[in-house]
Amino acid sequence: MSDRSYGLHWFRRDLRLEGNPALARNLALHPGRVLGVFCFDRKFLSRPDFSAARFLFFLRTLEKLRAEMRERGGDLLFLDEGPRETFPALLASLRELREYGRPATVSWNRDYEPFARERDAAMQSLFEEDFGVESLTERDHLLIEPTELARGDAKAPGGGFYQVYTPFKAKWFSLFRSSDVNARLRETGRALSAGAPAFSLAWPKSSPAFPFGGHDLLAEYLAATRKLVPPALASGGPRVGHAAAKEHLRGFRDEWLAKYAEARDFPAVPGTSQMSIYLKNGSITVPQIVALLKLTPDSPEPELKYFQELVWREFYYHILYHRPEVEREAFLPKYRNLRWENSEKLFRAWCEGRTGYPIVDAGMRQLNATGWMHNRVRMIVASFLTKELLVDYRWGERYFMEKLLDGDLAPNNGGWQWAASTGCDPQPYFRIFNPTSQGERFDPDGKYVRRWLPELADRPDRELHEPLDPLVDHAKQRERALALFKSAREE
Ligand SMILES: Cc1cc2nc3c(=O)[nH]c(=O)nc-3n(C[C@H](O)[C@H](O)[C@H](O)COP(=O)(O)OP(=O)(O)OC[C@H]3O[C@@H](n4cnc5c(N)ncnc54)[C@H](O)[C@@H]3O)c2cc1C
Repeated sequence: MSDRSYGLHWFRRDLRLEGNPALARNLALHPGRVLGVFCFDRKFLSRPDFSAARFLFFLRTLEKLRAEMRERGGDLLFLDEGPRETFPALLASLRELREYGRPATVSWNRDYEPFARERDAAMQSLFEEDFGVESLTERDHLLIEPTELARGDAKAPGGGFYQVYTPFKAKWFSLFRSSDVNARLRETGRALSAGAPAFSLAWPKSSPAFPFGGHDLLAEYLAATRKLVPPALASGGPRVGHAAAKEHLRGFRDEWLAKYAEARDFPAVPGTSQMSIYLKNGSITVPQIVALLKLTPDSPEPELKYFQELVWREFYYHILYHRPEVEREAFLPKYRNLRWENSEKLFRAWCEGRTGYPIVDAGMRQLNATGWMHNRVRMIVASFLTKELLVDYRWGERYFMEKLLDGDLAPNNGGWQWAASTGCDPQPYFRIFNPTSQGERFDPDGKYVRRWLPELADRPDRELHEPLDPLVDHAKQRERALALFKSAREE
């Protein structure tokens, strides 16, 4: 490569400079001379599951990333067209500018969602065939990619990929012990201690020859999106960026990790790591968490339990990769024609936290106010929607995507299909959570429920989790749910 050669890094869901594998590879080819670009496809604004709160968190993270790049001598360009429109125009324009010319490389970290895989394949041929720009892609947010976990004969029924978590985990842990993964984790640890790289190239100033970046589009998007979210999230919300994610993780490690195995089920205590919001946009990755906490399959119980939750995340990505149709339909064919009742009225009451079941309503109010919900409560409200209100899990899945800061297709779909018993390795259909006893067991002193339902503040502890003017009767609905599943099984 010549001294003047340079590269582009296409940021997508890898919003950090530290230990960013594709960016690092590009920088190794052109030291300092890599420009960042992010293209926001405006079509996302009209998706039914678009979440203004998650988008705001994403934009705030992007703003922080741009500031960090600028402080370090580089720059990030935010454009609001999809990559298929953005890159041809951008590359054509750069080619005409003498000090820039054609970039030698464009790098990005791999993604595994169906839409992203299709987009990336198209972009790779556009870069290479139409523009003669080399594509550099790297693994990033998964430690072990779905293609590395082959199982048996791909052509045999059920062959090719793991569909049950326990054998998946066993294989995943055996690969974890391989020299390849060990070397990768050492590199992850080394890159984390090296910190953020330095840059020596900025985007051209806006001009008729380079009509990009004339005004601060990112700031405009931030201001417009702030107006769409609840006030508490518009002005506050979790801190953003890699340093914030690492600091939060260290706090969790020092205070909660040793107690994780018990504390993780109690929504009133901050006993989980809350890493999901940072994992979603790549402020931190699973390999980085594993390296920072020094997790291994031989870690003692609380650490191992935490490690296994990260493996669940990898499992759901693995399923989505091998069975992309789960995005639209049940994993298990026998449940694709379940006759959900889909009452709009009951669904609305669930969304607004007005079912009369305290633990369900508290969870939904936490979600609506903060964009986050504790895992135990996610399981309870998902079971309630599908097996008590008899509403299609896809309605709940979409509502979660509209609200969650950590809304992420693979684990969200996996979690919903688990709770609705339609997924791979799901909760058996006849196991139906009783919201009252779940509340009594996991919120015994009522702290969680009282926090989100202040109107129950004075209700005595022993009655706290009893339903109050419930929309439906648990025992009756349970029978109806069993009948619904049985009839689908018999068809
Ligand atoms: C109905 C339902 C919907 C869900 N939707 C999402 C979603 O949109 N995005 C999302 O990231 N997670 C989702 N989950 C999984 C889980 O609830 C969250 O990952 C977890 O609550 C995040 O909090 P934490 O980071 O404090 O978790 P911790 O307990 O600290 O766990 C650490 C990490 O492990 C992973 N993890 C933990 N539990 C699970 C799980 N059950 N499945 C997959 N990965 C897991 C997450 O990446 C999490 O950040 C869903 C679960 C259910 C039951």
